[in-house]
Amino acid sequence: MIDSSAFQGKKAIYYTLGCKLNFSETSTFGKMLADMGVVTAEKGERADICLINTCSVTEVADHKCRQAIHKMAREHPGAFIIVTGCYAQLETEKVSKIAGVDLVLGSNEKADLIQYLNDAFIHRAEGTTLHAFHAVKTKDIKRFQPSCSKGNRTRYFLKVQDGCNYFCTYCTIPYARGLSRSPSIASLVAQAEEAAAEGGKEIVLTGVNIGDFGTTTHERFIDLVKALDGVEGIKRFRISSLEPDLIDDELIEYCAGSRAFMPHFHIPLQSGSDMVLKLMHRRYDSALFARKIALIKRLMPDAFIGVDVMVGSRGERPEFFEACYRFLDGLPVTQLHVFPYSERPGTSALTIPYVVDEKEKKLRSKRLLAMSEEKTHAFYEQYIGTERPVLFEKAHRGKAMHGFTDNYIRVELPPSLARDAYDNEIMSIRLGGFNHDGTALKAELT
Ligand code: SF4
Repeated sequence: MIDSSAFQGKKAIYYTLGCKLNFSETSTFGKMLADMGVVTAEKGERADICLINTCSVTEVADHKCRQAIHKMAREHPGAFIIVTGCYAQLETEKVSKIAGVDLVLGSNEKADLIQYLNDAFIHRAEGTTLHAFHAVKTKDIKRFQPSCSKGNRTRYFLKVQDGCNYFCTYCTIPYARGLSRSPSIASLVAQAEEAAAEGGKEIVLTGVNIGDFGTTTHERFIDLVKALDGVEGIKRFRISSLEPDLIDDELIEYCAGSRAFMPHFHIPLQSGSDMVLKLMHRRYDSALFARKIALIKRLMPDAFIGVDVMVGSRGERPEFFEACYRFLDGLPVTQLHVFPYSERPGTSALTIPYVVDEKEKKLRSKRLLAMSEEKTHAFYEQYIGTERPVLFEKAHRGKAMHGFTDNYIRVELPPSLARDAYDNEIMSIRLGGFNHDGTALKAELT
């Protein structure tokens, strides 16, 4: 039995590390607490509850989580500190021992945040110190916590899938989030309709391995895409990331002719060297990747394609990196998201003997980032002087407004032309030259 009076009027603060999925889930935690009468603490106010949603994608991420916990404990003395997320699942006991931490919830338990918090309040009232941690083993992580949240700006993030069955050799995500699972198409359509009713115009589908949607429900991702495309109020859908082997030709063809799926893809390549892909246990080779990109570009010539690449992974000898560099150089992709490889305890990549030193990792990252900049610049340049639909995001008074075209070009409207009325509106905009720092094209209102 939950006594909401214990929550009423309490102030909470949230801190999120990591991916879009984590941000979306934090927002759901915020809603759950708000429903119990908890308000978000204003900047500078002392909070009663601090919730830290952690990430464990790299060693640096783990370090940032510990730092965030220390900072919260220092800035909000006496507050109830809850830690959840991937680092909390992987290092449950260790996290519970950090000074100030009251409650650690793993990936299966976070859905019961309110119940755990209620029990913890009772303990505290009885004068018992808690330092409780709750996390089942990875194989027992089965629950799916629904989440459809409005980001800081205009977009909604709809969680369509969680967990992963792939076990790439460098990755801890399947251990932190459990195996792949997803809700029904009907429930996701209902969430999209709710977002539309709230005035939402754009939804980003999020998940860990989205293309693996439906393994637990025996539904297909393409059918989810078709069903969401029918939610009229939503004008734009984007898919946050899709594994190359799970992008069916049928999906690409459907998106090309769809009402609301944007010409925008994000595809993790990780390496353009087939040798390295094998060491990573990725489920495709560079030829398959190139075929998918070619089909997207043939059917959607304006498509923006973002690609994740990992540099300096174990086994990436100089000649393999050069092969990756040449492969990417020849691909019509728009942007590279470059991640230096980070050793993760418990992963099988640690058995690969060849190690790339940090200095070399930096050099490789630098070369790929320079390539990325050139590719993005060239992509933007093609659209100068053309007209495209832009969805504008709320701006602070006196500041420039920003938005994105259908094909994900960032657009800037100077403060003199910015209007509150343009917020969350899709407008046909003529694209001018680059803005002052080259991160957007200037909007020319027609
Ligand atoms: S597909 Fe590979 S890299 Fe992505 S979450 Fe699953 S195991 Fe990790």
